[in-house]
Amino acid sequence: MDRRHALKTGLLGALGATFGGCAARTTPAVRAAAPAARRAPVRLTPLRVAPDLVIRSTVGLRPHRPHGFVLRAEKLDDRLLVHNYGHGGAGWSLSWGTGTLAADMVSEAGHQRAAVIGCGIVGIACARLLQRRGIQTTIYAAAVPPGTTSNMAEAAFTPTSGLVDFSQRTPEWEAQFRRAVEISYRQWQLLANPAMGVSWVYNYSPTENAEVRGGISLLPESVQGEREVLGPGEHPFASTYVVRRRDMRFEPSIALDALLRDFMIFGGRLEVRRFQSKAELGRLDEPAIVNCTGLGSRDLMGDMELVPLKGQLHVLAPQPGVDYSTTGGLKLDIESPGGFLYMMPRRDGIVLGGTSERDVWTLEPNEAERERILRRHTELFSSMRTT
Ligand SMILES: Cc1cc2nc3c(=O)[nH]c(=O)nc-3n(C[C@H](O)[C@H](O)[C@H](O)COP(=O)(O)OP(=O)(O)OC[C@H]3O[C@@H](n4cnc5c(N)ncnc54)[C@H](O)[C@@H]3O)c2cc1C
Repeated sequence: MDRRHALKTGLLGALGATFGGCAARTTPAVRAAAPAARRAPVRLTPLRVAPDLVIRSTVGLRPHRPHGFVLRAEKLDDRLLVHNYGHGGAGWSLSWGTGTLAADMVSEAGHQRAAVIGCGIVGIACARLLQRRGIQTTIYAAAVPPGTTSNMAEAAFTPTSGLVDFSQRTPEWEAQFRRAVEISYRQWQLLANPAMGVSWVYNYSPTENAEVRGGISLLPESVQGEREVLGPGEHPFASTYVVRRRDMRFEPSIALDALLRDFMIFGGRLEVRRFQSKAELGRLDEPAIVNCTGLGSRDLMGDMELVPLKGQLHVLAPQPGVDYSTTGGLKLDIESPGGFLYMMPRRDGIVLGGTSERDVWTLEPNEAERERILRRHTELFSSMRTT
C-alpha cells in the first residue's frame, strides 16, 4: 500500500471507510450528533501496554478478492455447487448474510441433504442456516477451530473491511452485499449473549475533527448506527475530540465453539478432510455442496483473484476495568502498510491490531508492525487522563 493510500486509510480509518485496504473497522458515519452542551466526562480505565505484557501474537490471512466475495451456484456433474467465499476482513460480519443467501440457493433447488466445505465462521454459519431449514448437513474441512483463519480475527462488525476494491465492484455484487449485510446485522443481534461470545461495547476514536465526515459507503442506512462526538472535557483522551459509537464484538474462540456445538446438537456431522480438487467434491454423497473454503478456494477452485491480506494481533491478558474498544491513535500512521490501529477487549485477552499486508503469505508476525502497534497504543493510553 502506498503512502497516499496509507494516509487516506489513516484519515478515514477512525471513521471507518475503505474497502480493499482493510483499514475500515467501522462503517463511515453519516449520522452523528454534533458536539452539544458539555456533558459529564466519560471515565475510562487506561490500558497498560508493554512488550512483556503480550501473552501471544497471531497471524491470519484475510481472503480478499478485488471484486468482492463470490456467492453463486453452478452445476458440478449432477450436483449443485454453491460458492460462498472471499470475505476479506469482513467474514465475521457477513457470515449470516451470505450464508442465508447460499442456503436459499440450496433450498430453492429442493435439496434435503447438503455438504458444507469449510469450518470457519462462514462455513459454520451456513451449516446452521441449512439445518434451520431442515436440511441434513455435514461439514467437511481440512482445519477446524481453533485452527482456522476465523480464530485469528479481532473480531468486530466491520462489513466493508478489506472486502472489495472500490473501483471493481458491480451493481449486482453490491445488491448482494446490501442484502447480506442487513441479514447478518440482524442475525448477530439475535445471537448476542455471553455464552455465544457476542456482545456490544462502546468504541472510542480519537480525532482532531469535530465534524464526523462520512467516507464512501456501501452500507445501507439501517446498519450504520449512530455516533456522537465528545468534545474537550467530555472524554479522557489526549485528542481534542473523540467519536463514540457502539461496536458489536465477536469472541472467536467462544462463538465458533458454541456454534459448532449447536451444529452437533441439531444432528450435524463433521469430518476432517482436505479436498485436492473440485472433481473430488463431485464424488461426495450429498446432492448439494456449499463451498466455504475462504482463501482455500484459490487452489481448490483455481480462483487466482483471491489474495491474502495478512493481519496480525498482539494479545494482552485481560485487565480489570478495560471494557471499551478503540479505533485509531493520536497520530496518523503513514509509515505503515495498513496505517490503522485498534484495541478490542475479550475474555481470552485484549487484542491489539491494525495491519493489512497485501499478498503476503507468511504466518510470521512482522516485527516492525508489532513495534508500531505497541508504540502507538502506549502513546494513546499513557496520555489518557484518569481524574
Ligand atoms: C487480524 C484479522 C482481523 C480480522 N478482523 C475481523 C473483524 O473485525 N471482523 C470481521 O468481520 N472479520 C475480520 N477478519 C476477517 C475474517 O477473519 C475472515 O473474513 C473470515 O475468517 C473468513 O472466514 P471463512 O470461514 O471464509 O475462512 P476460514 O476461517 O479460513 O475457514 C476456511 C475453512 O475452509 C477449509 N478449507 C480450505 N481449503 C480446504 C480444502 N481444500 N479442503 C477442505 N477444507 C478446506 C479450512 O480448513 C477452514 O476450515 C479478520 C481477519 C484477520 C486475519
